[in-house]
Amino acid sequence: MRLTLIKPTIGRPTHSLYVDEARMEPLNLGVLAALTPPDVDVVMYDDRCEPIPYHQPTDLVAITVETYTARRSYEIAAEYRRRGVPVIMGGFQPTFVPDECAEHADSVFIGDAETVWASVIDDARRGALKPVYRGEPGRPQTGVLTRRDIFEGKGYLPVSLMQFTRGCRFVCDFCAVTRYFDRKHHIRAIDETLAEIENQKRKLVFFVDDNIASNRQALKELCRALIPLRINWVSQASLDVTADAELMKLMVDSGCLGHIMGFESITRDSVREARKAPNMPRFDQYATQIAILREHGLQTWAAFTLGYDHDTVDSVRATLEFALKHRFTFAAFNILMPYPNTPLYDRLTREGRHLYDGKWWLHPEYRFNDCAFVPARMTPDQLTDVCYEARREFNRIPSMLWRFSDLKTNMRTLTRMRAFWQFTPVFRREVFKKHGMVFGHFGHR
Ligand code: SF4
Repeated sequence: MRLTLIKPTIGRPTHSLYVDEARMEPLNLGVLAALTPPDVDVVMYDDRCEPIPYHQPTDLVAITVETYTARRSYEIAAEYRRRGVPVIMGGFQPTFVPDECAEHADSVFIGDAETVWASVIDDARRGALKPVYRGEPGRPQTGVLTRRDIFEGKGYLPVSLMQFTRGCRFVCDFCAVTRYFDRKHHIRAIDETLAEIENQKRKLVFFVDDNIASNRQALKELCRALIPLRINWVSQASLDVTADAELMKLMVDSGCLGHIMGFESITRDSVREARKAPNMPRFDQYATQIAILREHGLQTWAAFTLGYDHDTVDSVRATLEFALKHRFTFAAFNILMPYPNTPLYDRLTREGRHLYDGKWWLHPEYRFNDCAFVPARMTPDQLTDVCYEARREFNRIPSMLWRFSDLKTNMRTLTRMRAFWQFTPVFRREVFKKHGMVFGHFGHR
């Protein structure tokens, strides 16, 4: 039996072939490959960087689908199904909108794959795929090490992705993690996490946890175990981690270079509206938290979500000033997006504020980074434009040099300097390449 795994791209700019230079290993497909019995021949194609050979014989196609890649995923599925090959879809989009995905696939996988994937393969061998499979959310990869051989030769950024925990104890209004994991935090065994690190060659690891600091005790134990390995690592963490001095020191001692951190907004009312609890206890415009991050030399990727009901064109511009003032290694000025099955999505539905029929991810008129709802104090176009303006200004070459020149963070060590120049220019290019991108490859105007 042959299994074909597919990582779809978002789409492409209107007139050119798009290759995602910032692509990282699709960890979930490496896990799926590892969960597959060894007698099955597994191949993986990454639509972000290579053509998909639809003509190549295969018995089952598994596509990982996110909201942004849904339209392209449905195109790919149609190509395979036209050739009589069964398609199963898994990931966030099938988990949150299974009925939509079921229209484009033979089978939909809801939830985590670990406990159920073997029965999917059994059913596929017998030609008896079920229309729906459900896997309970739980610990990442118990007893399973990611198969990284399927990543070889695909030109991924030189960082190894892995997972220590899943889920988060907070309930931010816009975040899909909240409902997926129901506030639970599932933690991988430390010895298995260490084995995962030792089972690959790189010295830079990205823990793609939703919030690696959701359980501080667990993170402390991981940090202690990482110290002898002498690696560098990055992850995603909520800002409240700065309140724990012991943990901050342990992170640095264990090789942490920094985190993606959700600041979301510099406006107190917007933070409250987002229900971003980890940002609230000492809301002094983040002065305390940023000072602690800088003292520890952490390189921060600041994530903002812009377009709350208290936000204005001026407050978005003030956010740009804030990001430049603090010389963040990188900053993402994301428009607040109503992802399906989030509290935010439901609220905008109740208030009749969706654009694009409430399904921006499928709408032929929608473009990457467009606002998809009616903001309270701006027009949708104003929000789209001012967020682009913030990205453009933050990513100007003089801005990059200014940010790099921070002696406490980006210039603190050679390793940090190298990390800045290895990754920041790539992310910068992708910001401009992705802006206005058409979703999918076909069927747009
Ligand atoms: S802290 Fe982060 S991961 Fe947790 S609910 Fe909020 S946005 Fe989601």
